Amino acid sequence: MKFGGTSVADLERIRHVAQLVKGEVDRGNEVAVVVSAMAGETNKLVAWTRELSPLHDAREYDVVVAAGEQITAGLTAVALSAIGISARSWLGWQVPIRTSAMHGSARIEAIEPTLMSERLSQGQVAVVAGFQGIASDNRVSTLGRGGSDTSAVAVAAALKADRCDIYTDVDGVYTTDPRIVAKARRLEKISYEEMLEMASLGAKVLQTRSVEIAMVHRVPVRVLSTFDPDAGGTLLCDEEDIVEKKPVTGIAYSRDEAKITLRRIPDRPGIAASIFGPLADAGVNVDMIVQNVSEDGRKTDLTFTVSRGDLARAIDAIEKAAPAIGYRDLTSDSNVAKVSMIGIGMRTHAGVAQTMFRTLSEKGINIQVISTSEIKVSVLIAEEYVELAVRALHSAYELDVA
Ligand code: ADP
Ligand code: ASP
Ligand code: MG
Repeated sequence: MKFGGTSVADLERIRHVAQLVKGEVDRGNEVAVVVSAMAGETNKLVAWTRELSPLHDAREYDVVVAAGEQITAGLTAVALSAIGISARSWLGWQVPIRTSAMHGSARIEAIEPTLMSERLSQGQVAVVAGFQGIASDNRVSTLGRGGSDTSAVAVAAALKADRCDIYTDVDGVYTTDPRIVAKARRLEKISYEEMLEMASLGAKVLQTRSVEIAMVHRVPVRVLSTFDPDAGGTLLCDEEDIVEKKPVTGIAYSRDEAKITLRRIPDRPGIAASIFGPLADAGVNVDMIVQNVSEDGRKTDLTFTVSRGDLARAIDAIEKAAPAIGYRDLTSDSNVAKVSMIGIGMRTHAGVAQTMFRTLSEKGINIQVISTSEIKVSVLIAEEYVELAVRALHSAYELDVA
């Protein structure tokens, strides 16, 4: 059972969480609980670290931001004991949850829950601090924002759990973010693959990496509401288990986008390598790319997107490589957002993208960049139109709740 930040936001809610855990124990289950920090806590810790020094040591950042989960793990264990349930807290290093040394966004490499398994079989509830682990350099690490989901699914996989229930502030995965579209519909089931796309394209209900682990280890994950646990929820499952295959399952959006355009670059072999090589070396992930046809066969324009937090580093890397690339000018724009539609039904339905393009055009929204894969289409648009675009697409694909 994993509980997110709003679920453990104060002592009253932690008491409520303890009751939900007690319910599972009373039903005869062995339970490992994974908790996030109290809502808002991680943001505060991140802000403190940045305020002292924008160029802080990522290992110290991890020491600071991992602290939020230490508090809720201990408090949850205390709350459980207070209602007569045997429980103890486990910090990442105590489990241990071993990770890479990529501080700030470490990847889980191994979990060795031998002692924890023993305690579970003796009837003790394990309360694991989410988001944190111990890195190969023997220091505290964190798994990137939203990482408690990943802790939960990875612990479930390591324990070979029958289920991994992600309790959050919505009662499941919706066709789109219910916070911006009131007519969003809860999905009874969603395939791992679609959930992976939804998460990586911006639906923050699950961290992308948690879905990857669930998919690889076939962990049955359910998303449920802490505040209405009987509401139904959403089950992640295999594609074959989904009967009704609509062309589009969901719409996701991300504001964490920035666009860079290089004008009048030479149109010759090797030019892409001369641009994207330095970006990769600087640790910048490039997402969408368009290259225009060159009119004279000699010069062309190239546009690509990076995450907003990487924009400064990306520009710096390009400017340093300017002599090798040979562009006329570089422009950038952070006022952009990506809207995507996702669905395994796209494999078999034709003309799905056309509805997207027509709908956006009817709203007067200009598409700046397009990218597609087998089960998704993404477009880059001006940020101010995100909500309008998501709502219009949600209706156009007949996803609105009746
Ligand atoms: P937690 O703190 O429990 O991890 P998060 O805030 O990380 O919760 O994730 C839950 C939030 O994800 C919801 O409140 C909702 O606004 C947002 N969200 C975005 N897209 C979706 C979606 N498709 N379905 C459900 N929730 C979504
Ligand atoms: N507390 C961490 C965060 O806010 C991890 C999580 O909540 O999943 O990113
Ligand atoms: Mg979350």
